[in-house]
Amino acid sequence: MNIKVLSLLAISGLLPIWSATPANAFANSACSPDGLYSLADVDSGITVCQDSSIAIALGAGSQQLEVPQSGAVMSFLYASPVDTTISHVSVFTDDQQKVGLLIDDVAFGATLEVGSTGPITTLSSFPGCSTSSYNLLPMHWIKTYVWYYNSTNSPSSSALSELQSSISLWTSGVNRCTGQTYSSTFASRYAGATGLSPNFSVTTSNGISTIGCALPDGNNVIGWLNPTGTSSVLAVTCTWPSGSPGILAGESDIFVNKNYSFYFGSSTAGCTGSLYDFREIVTHEFGHVVGLAHSSQLDRQIMKPNFSTCETSERLLAPGDISGLQVRY
Ligand SMILES: [Zn+2]
Repeated sequence: MNIKVLSLLAISGLLPIWSATPANAFANSACSPDGLYSLADVDSGITVCQDSSIAIALGAGSQQLEVPQSGAVMSFLYASPVDTTISHVSVFTDDQQKVGLLIDDVAFGATLEVGSTGPITTLSSFPGCSTSSYNLLPMHWIKTYVWYYNSTNSPSSSALSELQSSISLWTSGVNRCTGQTYSSTFASRYAGATGLSPNFSVTTSNGISTIGCALPDGNNVIGWLNPTGTSSVLAVTCTWPSGSPGILAGESDIFVNKNYSFYFGSSTAGCTGSLYDFREIVTHEFGHVVGLAHSSQLDRQIMKPNFSTCETSERLLAPGDISGLQVRY
């Protein structure tokens, strides 16, 4: 377990949830006090300041998340310990420092940009072909996304090539539904192996896991988490702004939890049993890197929030994914 970053759980245990005095140095009337908040609090409009310590309790309280500061966005995929469903959560702040949270495709607090080019007419038997709707996160890239890979704890030597195949889909590929090629101006480049770790904080205490984005180090790193305790988090993406908070991304890291079982084959027919398709999962995470949020589960895009095992037929981008991509790039 990574214990290098402070546990907000410990902080929230020492502070009253509704502290009367904001503890952060940038405190003003627009800053909500440090502490632990509920989804209803987020919906009512909490705001964070530069060094706020604000956590949000998810669901039954077994999972908490730290709100990232300075305009960063955190998206993570987790398995509910209550009912074993897989869900995705994105948390961010808007340009007014208001906290926004997207759990699957249900929004709380600050709103995301929503777009759609309407239903497409070329349908196929593949899922995700009846819509081209999408949602956008606040940030995107105007420079090449140069990334490194840390193979420590990797369960497969194929992981790197799968990552390379996945990220390439956000630059060009074949539309899953129409069979037509597409392209974008999103540019990425694999820069080699690294011993650096992705910048996350994950702590587990008394059965409650707290996850957050740590401070960025300027390097885009993708790697594996090997938690010693129970963690319901499968994969996380954090994106930090370039310089001051704004719409330009400066760093984006991903980690995947090695304690879950993945399929690493390039063949869509080879996945059997209760394995998550690594290609599909990381293509989704790279979708967060490029600046897409979740679309509706019913639309079955790669940016849908929930995943089943061996969904290899849904690896490629669908019309909504491509529409959102091409709005940004
Ligand atoms: Zn997601």
